[in-house]
Amino acid sequence: MHVAASGPKFEKPGRLPAPLDLSADDDGRSMHRFVAELYPICRSITGEGVRKTLNLILEHIPLTICEVPSGLQVFDWTVPLEWNIRDAYIKNSAGERIVDFRASNLHVLGYSVPVHTRIGLSELREHLFSDPQHPDWIPYRTSYHEPAWGFCLPHSQFLALPEDEYEVRIDSSLESGHLTYGELQLRGRSSDEVLISCHVCHPSLCNDNLSGVAVACALAKRLGSMDRRYSYRFLFIPGTIGSIAWTAIRQSHLSKIKHGFVLTCVGDRGSPTYKTSRRGDAEIDRAWMYVLKQSGSAFDILPFSPFGYDERQYCSPGLNLPVGCFMRTPHGQFQEYHTSADDLNFVCAASLNDSVAKALTVIDVIEQNCKYLNLKPFCEPKLGDYGLYSSIGGRPVGDFQMAILWLLNMSDGTNSLLDIAARCNLPWEMLKEAVRALGEAGLLKPIEEPS
Ligand code: ZN
Repeated sequence: MHVAASGPKFEKPGRLPAPLDLSADDDGRSMHRFVAELYPICRSITGEGVRKTLNLILEHIPLTICEVPSGLQVFDWTVPLEWNIRDAYIKNSAGERIVDFRASNLHVLGYSVPVHTRIGLSELREHLFSDPQHPDWIPYRTSYHEPAWGFCLPHSQFLALPEDEYEVRIDSSLESGHLTYGELQLRGRSSDEVLISCHVCHPSLCNDNLSGVAVACALAKRLGSMDRRYSYRFLFIPGTIGSIAWTAIRQSHLSKIKHGFVLTCVGDRGSPTYKTSRRGDAEIDRAWMYVLKQSGSAFDILPFSPFGYDERQYCSPGLNLPVGCFMRTPHGQFQEYHTSADDLNFVCAASLNDSVAKALTVIDVIEQNCKYLNLKPFCEPKLGDYGLYSSIGGRPVGDFQMAILWLLNMSDGTNSLLDIAARCNLPWEMLKEAVRALGEAGLLKPIEEPS
């Protein structure tokens, strides 16, 4: 028997507003403040800077801080010695600090071995790094794998250095210790997991490093208070060696990861970019493509390549996890990349906010995605009898009406809601509303999770 639903459901508006209500705690301004709080810390792939960063994250979310000992073999790599630095400078013969770690931690080549000596200009120059393309900025350089020491400085300053006897001092230590990372697991109804990973190993750089931290933290807070189908695992790890160590330690667990994305460079003013997983057509890839396409704003989709951030490790052939990378302007494609100009002015609250909003919509797609079955599949049901079709013929068919028709047509048990959404290119909230209306009318039922 047909049961007429109350009200003319075909009069739904063409576009429903995005279902995002970012709380004051998680909005872009508070994320930007968090970036500012983390900005002065001298982070590296190991050491106290990472611990300080994780302890500040811990004030927002219940992170577990994990320590992996130096020397541990992880796949083809070895967990390095722990690096810590207290001070560094170049003084001229008048005793003035002309390059000062206290002014910017970017001045020191990352992982510099300790040094304290007096040298002339030509020898000093062998240890200096500058960028002629951007003569006023301090470049960010590291030497993780070769013992070295050095200083980074603006090219204009490099060119102006006079002949002199310089005192150089780097008060650092490289000792057996730990690699530190933070991990948060939010359990859902299923033990299947979504992995969200960001790096915490860059010193005072905002977009490359801290924007991902702030967005991941905001997502964890939001997901923490949501009913969850999936379990979520957030990683705040040193780039490359951190994800290599984590996957090596957790190798037996990795089959639980059904979806995932790396967050990096999500605070600049560029439009959103998603780089697909190595699989290219994983559900997470299709969810990001659909959500960015639906946003109505500029976006870019990049195919997988074995270069970039920790998706390189998650997508290595032996793991091949369905993990992509969400960013705004890709690394290396903004001139401020790996320089002192990637500062608090380079990232903005609106972009951080938009990055959280996009990621939450993708998560909602993943959470709600399932297959449905049309219970009246022999020709179209007489929708008017269910209150699902306009009785006025001749006027244009609206989007909500099309959502109803697409759902009925495609719900033969083989297509997921995301498959249908991508094919009909209608808004996610509208499709969910149409699913609800068809379910209430007894025309559609889920045949798998979520129930
Ligand atoms: Zn970087």
